[in-house]
Amino acid sequence: MSEDKPEKIGYRRRKIGEYQCHCCKEKKVYCLSCTCGFMICEACFQENRWGMSNGPTWICPDCERIHMT
Ligand SMILES: [Zn+2]
Ligand SMILES: [Zn+2]
Repeated sequence: MSEDKPEKIGYRRRKIGEYQCHCCKEKKVYCLSCTCGFMICEACFQENRWGMSNGPTWICPDCERIHMT
């Protein structure tokens, strides 16, 4: 019946600040992200789509991994 250690300390929720676009440097609720740590927001992705996307996939400019959008 002893109390567990307080779990409220360190709890995390999804909110602005979890993602930060590497292109515009803005914090976003969601970014396309790569396992290498690269992130890009939807708006920047659309602007750079011609350079990093090819149909249903996009290529990380940092490590050149291919991702599904
Ligand atoms: Zn951006
Ligand atoms: Zn990458």
